[in-house]
Amino acid sequence: MQFGYSETCLEHDTGPRHPETPDRLRAIRRALAKRHGVEYVEAEPVAQERVEAVHDSTYVTEIKQFCETGGGNWDPDTVASGATWDATLASAGLAEWAAREAVAGADGRETPFALGRPPGHHAVADDAMGFCFVNNAAVAAQTLIDAEEADRVAIFDWDVHHGNGTQDIFYHRADVFYASFHEDGLYPGSGQVAETGAGDAEGTNLNVPLAAGAGDGDYCYAVDETLAPALERFDPDVLIVSAGFDAHRHDPISRMRVSTEGYAVLSDRVRDIADATDAGLAFVLEGGYGLDTLSDGVATVHETFDGRKPIEPDEGPNEKTQLLVDDVRDALDLD
Ligand code: ZN
Repeated sequence: MQFGYSETCLEHDTGPRHPETPDRLRAIRRALAKRHGVEYVEAEPVAQERVEAVHDSTYVTEIKQFCETGGGNWDPDTVASGATWDATLASAGLAEWAAREAVAGADGRETPFALGRPPGHHAVADDAMGFCFVNNAAVAAQTLIDAEEADRVAIFDWDVHHGNGTQDIFYHRADVFYASFHEDGLYPGSGQVAETGAGDAEGTNLNVPLAAGAGDGDYCYAVDETLAPALERFDPDVLIVSAGFDAHRHDPISRMRVSTEGYAVLSDRVRDIADATDAGLAFVLEGGYGLDTLSDGVATVHETFDGRKPIEPDEGPNEKTQLLVDDVRDALDLD
């Protein structure tokens, strides 16, 4: 595994007491420093024109100016500083780098993981929200398609929040599959089972709104019964993981019960799906607000790609998850 990283991402200053801080990246770097063979790559910032391939240009002009004139509260949660726009372009550039590496990964290259911030999955075409300004994973997917490096891209978002921005951007697009596992009822409130894509894109959007308290066994079962068959049917060229670590049992802002080892198992499952569909695989950082659990999570993903076989969870899914998975399979016509 190879990590994309840029010091520019540290300069996005959200002020004191904001959970999305530069310390998140510092904690990840410290955890990875304890592992052998960790390599960093600094990618070029994304070109503004690539941002405008998924965001409205009027919004891009407005948010860029907002940052360049010192920033402030764009909304109660989403805070920009003077350095935020540059950090945003760096963060999206890392995601774009990871996606392009994933295409090259067919030649046996290392699996890329973009360690950028601000995160991206809540950013919609014409607005910033939920700590996100530019939708990094969406920019990366669109770049592959526009450059004809991929015809079909899948994004699997295991952050505990629904990636409303990514879903919205690609909701009418049959060439991009968006899948999200998230905590039901949490911010931003979207991500219902019935949201399966529109028009030609029907069946290319998958939501698994898990009940609070879901753990490793629930996540694995949902991957095996919904994500794996849906992606085998979709047959992506590239699979981008929107990797947040806020479903961890000790994350301060969710009530999920995923363990650190659970992220190893999930990484292994995702790699199996990429192998089965012959897709390139890239990881892009989203949320994760416990510094220890976030950094342990990223280090565990590295360890998994470094060759350690994860330990399967000893518990299966609970009844709520089984019922939910049945509904998702019906909604997506998976049988
Ligand atoms: Zn999140």
